[in-house]
Amino acid sequence: MMNKLSFGIAAAAVLCATLSARAEADVPQRRAQHVIVISFDGGKPAVIAESEMPVLKRLAAEGAHTWVANTIFPPKTLPSHTSMTTGVGPDKHQILWNDWMPIRGLVKVPTMFSLAKEAGLSTALFAGKVKFRHLWVKDSLDEFNFGGKQDGAPVPADQNKAVVPAQTVAKEAAAYIVANKPDLCFIHFPDADSAGHKSGWGSPEQKEAFKVCDQALSQIVKAVKDAGIADSTVMIMSADHGGHDKNHSENIPDDMNIPWIAWGAGVNPGHEIKGAVTTFDTAATAIWLLGVPVPASFDGKPVKEAFSPVAAAVAKPKAP
Ligand SMILES: [Zn+2]
Repeated sequence: MMNKLSFGIAAAAVLCATLSARAEADVPQRRAQHVIVISFDGGKPAVIAESEMPVLKRLAAEGAHTWVANTIFPPKTLPSHTSMTTGVGPDKHQILWNDWMPIRGLVKVPTMFSLAKEAGLSTALFAGKVKFRHLWVKDSLDEFNFGGKQDGAPVPADQNKAVVPAQTVAKEAAAYIVANKPDLCFIHFPDADSAGHKSGWGSPEQKEAFKVCDQALSQIVKAVKDAGIADSTVMIMSADHGGHDKNHSENIPDDMNIPWIAWGAGVNPGHEIKGAVTTFDTAATAIWLLGVPVPASFDGKPVKEAFSPVAAAVAKPKAP
């Protein structure tokens, strides 16, 4: 029969186990020192498959991947990238427009950058389109780069169509990664979308643009190596939407399907992701990898099946 003392010890043990389980659930173990999210604007998997993209295809084969992830509706650049970086759908983030419209202000929900920053991490965003300024919440980014570091000075709405090509975005991001080794970095390559609107999804011109984006990706892969952080970095490659003809706005697979690829530290090698992945899972995965609690308000969930069940030993806390 259990006496009072042993009952007390047993109860305390149960309590401890419960508390530590809860702590684990609330504060995920940090699995990566660096997370780099790269978005190929208009990155329709069927066109990527037919394009000369050896680097992306190698990372997909070596890492964990699905070619049948989905974006949110409407499958448009700014609403979709807002979901990708805030972890919530358009009903919550309310960025329903698709232009740089300064009068509408900034996103009102937390972003993966603001959450990472609150956790003491460093953050950077390299955009190929000016409308990403709607995601630049005050003090959430150490670097907002649009063909060069931006200083926050107002940009008029008539500059909405300004685009920075992928090679320039990549050059800026690569130099920054080598110099600063940011904890969380987002990079946007616009070229394939521009070519799609001009010449059509799947056109030779768009395939050429995807080839250029792959060369831009290779600049980032090289920068991660040159920075000496390849062993502690996870790269996530995805897209904001696909497309058909010369547009993308419909609730059809051509427009809604996107790739989702994870590569790097602790990624299950050669794994084909079976679970459903939606673009808002990207923000959840990024902060979960960095050991930042995923808010209950998120629609997105970490894509855990892409990663080893045990956090890698390389993911050590950074020295103060
Ligand atoms: Zn787009």
